[in-house]
Amino acid sequence: MASYLNADLHCHSVASDGTLTPEALAQRAKLAGVELWALTDHDEVSGQQRAMAAARSQGLPYLTGVEISITFAGQTVHIVGLGFDAADTLLVEGLRQTRGGRGERAREMSEQLAQAGIPGAYEGALKYVGNPELISRTHFARYLVEAGVCSDTNEVFRRFLTEGKPGYIPHRWATLGDAVTWITRAGGLAVIAHPARYKFTPNEEYALFSEFKHHGGLGVEVVTGSHLPSEYVKYAEMAMEFGLAASRGSDFHSPDESRIDLGALPYLPGQLTPVWELLSERIHH
Ligand code: AMP
Ligand code: MN
Ligand code: MN
Ligand code: MN
Repeated sequence: MASYLNADLHCHSVASDGTLTPEALAQRAKLAGVELWALTDHDEVSGQQRAMAAARSQGLPYLTGVEISITFAGQTVHIVGLGFDAADTLLVEGLRQTRGGRGERAREMSEQLAQAGIPGAYEGALKYVGNPELISRTHFARYLVEAGVCSDTNEVFRRFLTEGKPGYIPHRWATLGDAVTWITRAGGLAVIAHPARYKFTPNEEYALFSEFKHHGGLGVEVVTGSHLPSEYVKYAEMAMEFGLAASRGSDFHSPDESRIDLGALPYLPGQLTPVWELLSERIHH
């Protein structure tokens, strides 16, 4: 399969911090002309069976997916897994442990927001949560918009919930080695998600890419809704330099919030090896 495939291998459903069901996403992807789809909820594979069944009924080829939160060099990094066995015990148990600290973290976030003059944020955020094990900053952001504190969720992440701002609670997630190993042992391919989003020094970024490869990681997102076009060029070069396959995904969360819709990104640059070329055996038709 060529680079010129409308693959969308990164998006979120109500099983994490998206607002659409797996079925609604499958339908939206099909209508948008997506030719290969993966649902990649944060730290959660409970939506995979529904996504696969919905994709099949739409005639949409499907890869299993997940987006795992890890801590690397003091920052949160996301590792996408594609084409794994969603029932794999090591993966499922690892993800369950990764999700474990979210409830406590959410209560601490709420306390800090209350001190900043915004009471009731935990209860407010809960109204938006589709999966009780997966309360996320996105759910708090939706509540802060509802409460009139900010006019949209982008403003929330500029003024709150991020390092140095009210409502930010540092959290220790899984390690890079854990995430890559869980994905790989479950038969899947690990991908560094939206690398331009991290605030690493060049040395730290080099360490992320080389340690990721050392653990068996094989891919990097190049064309993503979280990158600017200039960043597609930079990470296409990084993919070549590190011998990594390239992935493409909108990171779609919601029709009201997401800048880039399912299937709406440019194609991968032609000189790259697309991740789907390495995953052809893992695609569900
Ligand atoms: P959490 O996993 O609870 O730390 O929440 C992370 C989620 O918050 C991400 O997956 C995004 O959906 C959202 N998010 C984080 N930072 C930003 C940002 N700067 N702008 C918009 N959304 C963000
Ligand atoms: Mn998210
Ligand atoms: Mn992410
Ligand atoms: Mn994402």
